Formats: sequence, C-alpha cells, structure tokens
Amino acid sequence: MVATISGKSYLGATPDPAEATREAMAVAKNGLLPVVEIFYSLQGEGQRTGQATVFVRFAGCNLACEFCDTDFRVKDTFTAEALVAEIARIGGACRWVCLTGGEPTIHDLSGLCELLHASGYLLQMETNGTRPHPEWKLDHITVSPKQPQGGRLHPWYEANASEFKYVVDDDDDLARALNGVREHGRMTFVQPNSLNPAAVALCVDAVQTYPALLRLSLQTHKFLQIR
Ligand code: SF4
Repeated sequence: MVATISGKSYLGATPDPAEATREAMAVAKNGLLPVVEIFYSLQGEGQRTGQATVFVRFAGCNLACEFCDTDFRVKDTFTAEALVAEIARIGGACRWVCLTGGEPTIHDLSGLCELLHASGYLLQMETNGTRPHPEWKLDHITVSPKQPQGGRLHPWYEANASEFKYVVDDDDDLARALNGVREHGRMTFVQPNSLNPAAVALCVDAVQTYPALLRLSLQTHKFLQIR
C-alpha cells in the first residue's frame, strides 16, 4: 500500500517504509494500536502553536516521502483504554491530544477518539490528506499535502480541513501552496524546511507578497529545543 516515489531517491528515516507499514497493519489487525511514541510537549507548528499537547505518533504510512524525518516503525502497542490512561498519566491537566504519524488514517482510531472525547480531550489530527476522511470526530485537522511524493489530496479535506501546511524548499513548493489556497480557500501556512535556511527567506517574502493568502509557520519546538 506504500506509494512509490518517481525519480527521487528515498532518504527517509524509516529503513523500509513498506515493511514498517505492513507490521503496523498486522498489529492493528490483532486489535491493538501500533504506536511509535507518546510525548508531552507544545504544539510547535500552525494555528495551534504554543498550546500544550500530548502527541501520539502512530506507526505506518501510505506514502514514503524522500525527505521524511520520521521513523514510523512500531515501537509499542496499546489497547485504546491503555493509551487513554497513558495520555492522562503523562499529560496531567493538558486537554489537547494530537494524533500524528506516519499517517494516522491508515488505522481505525474511532474507539480511541470516542474514549478521549468522553474523557474531555480535544483532538487534533495531522494527516497527509490522501485517504478518505476518517469517520471519527475531530476538533482540528491539519493537512500537509504531499502531491510531489505521489499523494493526491482527497477532496473531502478541501472543505473540512482546519488548516493546510505546506513544507517549502523552493519556488515549486510555494506555487503548490498558492494553487492550493486558491482552490480550497482554507487557512494556509507555508513552513520552511528546517534543513534549508534559504527556504526561510522564500517563505517570508511569499507571505509579504500574498498577505491575504499565506501565513508563516515555524517549527518553534526546534528553536526551543524541545520535542
Ligand atoms: S506522509 Fe509524512 S510520515 Fe508519511 S512518508 Fe511522507 S513525510 Fe513521512
């Protein structure tokens, strides 16, 4: 199920993305949630920047982007009940949970989301937006489109995403962000690739040129040297 990349070498953090995803799906088939990591931090990107958040990173992804900085192999498994208990343990009074990956929509998280909402949590999901929208209720949906990596945006997100976030390396990425916002009209962030200092100036210039269309998102957790 992992999309191949045409013309570019895979330099991502997961040694074998297809195998990692197969393993994650096998865990899910056995009724458990395949998790990479759970941690308590501040949301560093996009509209929710600065809010305390428990992050749950699920294993597996339907894409294999050449620049992917996430190792999405399974590191732990949980029942939904055990995961809620762990979130409460590490998050204390925190009310926001961010479901991320990998790609969280490859798993059925409906039971987990019901339990979390019943416990008073607000739920953000970060997705590449390529798969049919999940049936479970969410409070904030962040889409980071990956068209150049073979991921076509599912149309549902054009009307329902809370925000779009485009990682920018060059003019082509900016053009994609501008095309995107002109099509869907949703709140749209350009976020410089943290490995490319030139991308910062590119993004600042773009936001100044198109102030009604674009906002800047920085990976503030990296500046703060927190996770
Ligand atoms: S969609 Fe995200 S997690 Fe999946 S391979 Fe691409 S960058 Fe990595």
